Amino acid sequence: MGTATFKGGIHTYEGKELTQDKQTKVLMPKGELVYPMSQHIGAPAKSIVAKGDYVLMGQKIGEADGAISANVISAVSGTVKAVEPRLTSSGLMVESVIIENDNLYKPIEGLGEKRDYAKLSKEQIRSIIKESGIVGLGGAAFPTQVKLTPGDDSKIDTVIINAAECEPYLTSDYRMMLEEPEKIMNGLKIILKLFPNAKGIIGIEDNKPEAIKKLTELVNGEDKIEIKALKTKYPQGGERQLVYAVTGRKLNSTILPYQVGCVVNNVDTAIAIYMAVAESTPLMRRIVTVAGDAVKEPGNFNVKTGTNFREVLEAAGGLTEEPEKMISGGPMMGQALFSLDIPVSKTTSALLCFTKDYVADMEPSSCIRCGRCGYACPAQIIPQKMYICSQNNDAEGFIKLDGMECCECGCCTYVCPAKLSLTQSFRQMKRSILESRKK
Ligand code: SF4
Ligand code: SF4
Repeated sequence: MGTATFKGGIHTYEGKELTQDKQTKVLMPKGELVYPMSQHIGAPAKSIVAKGDYVLMGQKIGEADGAISANVISAVSGTVKAVEPRLTSSGLMVESVIIENDNLYKPIEGLGEKRDYAKLSKEQIRSIIKESGIVGLGGAAFPTQVKLTPGDDSKIDTVIINAAECEPYLTSDYRMMLEEPEKIMNGLKIILKLFPNAKGIIGIEDNKPEAIKKLTELVNGEDKIEIKALKTKYPQGGERQLVYAVTGRKLNSTILPYQVGCVVNNVDTAIAIYMAVAESTPLMRRIVTVAGDAVKEPGNFNVKTGTNFREVLEAAGGLTEEPEKMISGGPMMGQALFSLDIPVSKTTSALLCFTKDYVADMEPSSCIRCGRCGYACPAQIIPQKMYICSQNNDAEGFIKLDGMECCECGCCTYVCPAKLSLTQSFRQMKRSILESRKK
């Protein structure tokens, strides 16, 4: 089996050995659960419960508001304590439904009932996915039903399952590939039902031979499904890099996967689709990797959405010492955390805690024009020159350098010997240009 890849990218310390061989543990929440109405790209959902209401496990508590939005589902039964703004991992206060868990886990009618997806129409499948609040669980959190409705189903010829999991430390997808491979395969088959001319490809980095073996065994006899080994390199799981590695087709900021005949979903999204469609179970949990040198017992946890991050850390034995840095998600593209009093949401893939010894503590210096950032950049743009534009607030120059094609992967920052905050400055510059275009 050959390995596919893309130009640019970096090889980082993987850190996956901390958790990759540990069985996922189920974490039952103790305290209140917090459900932000915005856990996805698009318009926030609208809360449809009020203080004092009793809700059931699997009940819709937030309704999608508009074409690009997603429902929010309660993972427990209990009483609504409040509907009020709460802090999220984005650092923003977001309108949230707070539920006092009664620990009875009383389900909505029909929760968990088996369904024969082969007998469902495309409309029924899409409607179930929408009702179940499923969004892209690889990080982007784009509503999945919208992604799976590209307009003309016949033009999609490739459905890709993103099983690269290229971010250092993260092993939650890997564990699912070992522990629940049938669900991934069936999730892919459900997606393929929507696209009659498509074949399915599961792209996995070649540092996961056990996962490749397991999924290859399940492909046996399926002529429309293929496993593709990908070179281990960050950001192999970036949508543009993955589509290029698997099909040779190029995307940019204005060309989306469906425009080149592709639909891309992450491993855990495929599982969520299977659970919703075949087992009548909406999106109510995340598999969260808890790791880093400040964590006592790193591992993967099956966590109900809404659970407080503190409880997740406790489940991993707590801290060895006060961390210098905490991150929600991977170290390359995750969000720095300044508090653990935030809920696990649909977008939470990891909680990483690092000690001061571990976190590079170097002051930025001047660019030495080494060119490393350019070699590492998977978008094939010139971070060094873009940085000068962003420092001078030169939007025109930034655009001319194709700065808007930056996918904020963090490779340039990682390799820069001058420790310049390249990615952060590009993120800010892109936001300000997009804001000014709206005016
Ligand atoms: S953050 Fe942007 S500029 Fe830097 S390497 Fe990634 S794509 Fe290139
Ligand atoms: S990697 Fe850093 S020091 Fe080297 S050219 Fe790029 S910005 Fe300058």
